[in-house]
Amino acid sequence: MTSEPTTVHDERAGLVDGFGRVATDLRVSLTDRCNLRCNYCMPAEGLDWLPTDQTLTDDEVVRLVRIGVEMLGIREVRFTGGEPLLRRGLTDIVRRTTQLDPRPEVSLTTNALGLARTAPALAEAGLDRINASLDTVRADTFAQITRRDRLHDVIAGLEAADAAGIGPIKVNAVLLRGVNEDQAPELLQWCLDRDYQLRIIEQMPLDAQHDWSREAMVTAAEIFEILGRHFELTPDPEHRGSAPAETFLVDGGPATVGVIASVTRPFCGDCDRVRLTADGQVRNCLFARQESDLRGALRSGASDEEIADRWRLAMASKRPGHGIDDVAFLQPTRPMSAIGG
Ligand code: SAM
Ligand code: SF4
Repeated sequence: MTSEPTTVHDERAGLVDGFGRVATDLRVSLTDRCNLRCNYCMPAEGLDWLPTDQTLTDDEVVRLVRIGVEMLGIREVRFTGGEPLLRRGLTDIVRRTTQLDPRPEVSLTTNALGLARTAPALAEAGLDRINASLDTVRADTFAQITRRDRLHDVIAGLEAADAAGIGPIKVNAVLLRGVNEDQAPELLQWCLDRDYQLRIIEQMPLDAQHDWSREAMVTAAEIFEILGRHFELTPDPEHRGSAPAETFLVDGGPATVGVIASVTRPFCGDCDRVRLTADGQVRNCLFARQESDLRGALRSGASDEEIADRWRLAMASKRPGHGIDDVAFLQPTRPMSAIGG
């Protein structure tokens, strides 16, 4: 981290904000569409998807990622969505990203539907890691949360990723009060048995329906309490750095479980992320209320340097924190599925 002043014309400058944080981790949403309907994310009927002509083409995505990596110090690239496996050009985008110099670490956040078929090609393209979303290992609860009866496909996807050597596999889970929170120990045991790393995420006010409430959210403190009934959790001595998950050794280790307490224990001061939406808007925070349009710049013939300058400027205004606890907090207009989680 640097506190030296930077100018938008300094070619060496990375994505530094006004508080000295440096973004090196780029989250790229490849589509806002999804084949599940997780009820903490979107309504049963889905959303008004972005029109195709507003969505970045594969070449546009790769160009922006290249500018991020070559000119702006991006070291990790995570493709997400919506559901990134729905993006036809995904394997090619992954391959072209892993060919950049310096080679970034490339990962995918996915619901794993269809991964059973695509995992070998993604591994061959150089995909390093996946984070798969799975909130329960009971088929009826899975169908209740996602509104689709597809648990077996998700499990097959994880097994295929593992077999293809994409790892370690991290499993992201959201707990919903009265639905699956008491299943957390069972989910953790299931992950331990397979050597997957479970990370439980506090539910955030990013659902399309604006139904989130602090009272309904299962807090990190409750998560520890629920898991603590079955496992002994001790803080992982390895420093957390900018990673959002606080990790704990399970029954003395080496297996760990992570808790991402975005709401009750925010980690904004260590944030190293920047996001690019499927329609080419830079967001300097999940909760940002403003975006910076790179698609317009791309399509009006801007040079790499001009785009890099615009991107740096977008970062400069990053706020110190998400402000969920402020009385004036307003949920961003875009839901999580359209921002890229
Ligand atoms: N479809 C992919 C998936 O589910 O992994 C990628 C996109 S999804 C928006 C990314 C992550 O955001 C998932 O792990 C999901 O559980 C999480 N998520 C969605 N809505 C959320 C919310 N309101 N609060 C916390 N996490 C949420
Ligand atoms: Fe789709 Fe992921 Fe949202 Fe679930 S969390 S509806 S899988 S985008």
